[in-house]
Amino acid sequence: MYHGGMRVLVVEDEPKIASFVRDGLEENDISVDLCQDGDTGYEHASSKPYDAIVLDIMLPGRDGLSILRSLREQKNEVPVILLTARAELSERLEGLNLGADDYLTKPFFVEELVARIRAIARRASGENLNALEHGPLTVDLLTRQLHVVGKEIELTTREFNLLAFFLRSPGRVLTRTQILEQVWGYHFDPGTNIVDVYVRRLRQKITPNGEPRLFEAVRGVGYRLLEINDGE
Ligand code: CA
Repeated sequence: MYHGGMRVLVVEDEPKIASFVRDGLEENDISVDLCQDGDTGYEHASSKPYDAIVLDIMLPGRDGLSILRSLREQKNEVPVILLTARAELSERLEGLNLGADDYLTKPFFVEELVARIRAIARRASGENLNALEHGPLTVDLLTRQLHVVGKEIELTTREFNLLAFFLRSPGRVLTRTQILEQVWGYHFDPGTNIVDVYVRRLRQKITPNGEPRLFEAVRGVGYRLLEINDGE
């Protein structure tokens, strides 16, 4: 497990590979935007922040190498993993020269792709991504451990991802829609109060006596992780 809220763009036109990659990443708590042609892929890649891009080379519309070249020309340093066919040796080398971070030759195991994504995302974001502190909380995103005033608290995968999502945006109101998308991977509102249930559960696990107050409900919108050092 890495951490919740990681978002990856997959640009792949072969439907079978595309859905196998998407499902595999989502099972590993990575949110996926999927584009099946090069033009849409480039649009997404150049307009949204991603933790990594998984980029096929042969695509309808713009090809993968042209997308990569344009991104690097714009100083966009998002980590890129190329998907190449066995025969595409020269394309693979050109891709690495253009600034691709890694490549995988088809066919591949999705676990391998997940491991590569985690490795390059970690490299790209340096150390501070792994450890987060907030008031009495210390969270290690790599080992997925939470300590509250030095005491380890066990969280489920979902609870941990939810907490990690809050910790990356302290003080900011996160809407239920954002939370559902980032933590559950839903692109729709399931019409349940699942977010409220999980926030309540987190609260009870982390601060059973209610102190310090960590989460604030924003009526009709969502929740905010309160800044702790402001003497709130
Ligand atoms: Ca292709």
